[in-house]
Amino acid sequence: MFENLSERLSGVFDRLTKQGALSEEDVKTALREVRVALLEADVSLPVARTFIKKVQDQATGQAVTKSITPGQQVVKIVHDALVDTLRGEEDPGKLKIDNPPAPILMVGLQGGGKTTTTGKLAKRLKDKEGKKVLMASLDVYRPAAMDQLKVLGAQIGVDTLPIVPGQTPVDIAKRAKQQAALGGYDVYMLDTAGRLQIDEVLMKEVEDVRDVVSPRETLLVVDGLTGQVAVEVAEEFDAKIGISGVVLTRMDGDGRGGAALSMRAVTGKPIRFVGLGEKMDALETFEPDRIAGRILG
Ligand code: GDP
Repeated sequence: MFENLSERLSGVFDRLTKQGALSEEDVKTALREVRVALLEADVSLPVARTFIKKVQDQATGQAVTKSITPGQQVVKIVHDALVDTLRGEEDPGKLKIDNPPAPILMVGLQGGGKTTTTGKLAKRLKDKEGKKVLMASLDVYRPAAMDQLKVLGAQIGVDTLPIVPGQTPVDIAKRAKQQAALGGYDVYMLDTAGRLQIDEVLMKEVEDVRDVVSPRETLLVVDGLTGQVAVEVAEEFDAKIGISGVVLTRMDGDGRGGAALSMRAVTGKPIRFVGLGEKMDALETFEPDRIAGRILG
């Protein structure tokens, strides 16, 4: 496993002066270790560099408080700076879904956890906010994906739009919009088709759907374990479709969560939720504090 950053820094400071203020040299040496820790946690190199620079200015000249060792002190400074960088929305779990029926567009690559997250989020909106939710699958290429959403809906007690073979994604989106209005739904969620990688046809299709429903939220669902790839996917989707937030899945895995920092720093988009398992209640609001702790190990 990864070496704990606190321990590693203690080692560094054991070799350094332990009194007075942190000198520029002390901080530099310590931050070299921090940089390694960030890279091990899968933070991208440019993001790690920028971040270290920011922390360096902050840490230099800070008095070493007697109660804690310099190592712990640097860890705290780095931890706080991570939280600061990761923090996006005031309340990431609060979606803009007033003015019913509010459309939520779910986008992402195939296998990232989009359908599962659609179900989890629908359940959350129903259980925690008492919303009446309608889900619709726009994956006309994979009948199994449509069935998957239907099965999830039945399992969590959320309605799904009846499947009509032969319709285009835009047809289905229009039908969902109409059904949501007629049926008195608060929210309708559109689970778009994913691809193994980004392609023009996919993007055009999602754009067309977006233009038909004008989503209140467009959430990108990406596998948090894919690190830099997740960030590139987010940049592409944001450039073409415009996303309002990100859901990082598989954060129950043993990755260190550095993708979250890169995601936030590179795209500027807030991480709204994290997926923590396959079950329908394994979705949590994004907490910068928790991810910061995890990145530092
Ligand atoms: P989609 O192709 O993007 O719709 O992906 P799916 O929703 O079908 O998910 C693909 C696989 O990932 C399924 O086996 C899910 O159960 C699993 N999965 C989704 N989210 C998570 C998560 O947060 N943690 C774990 N461990 N598995 C997840």
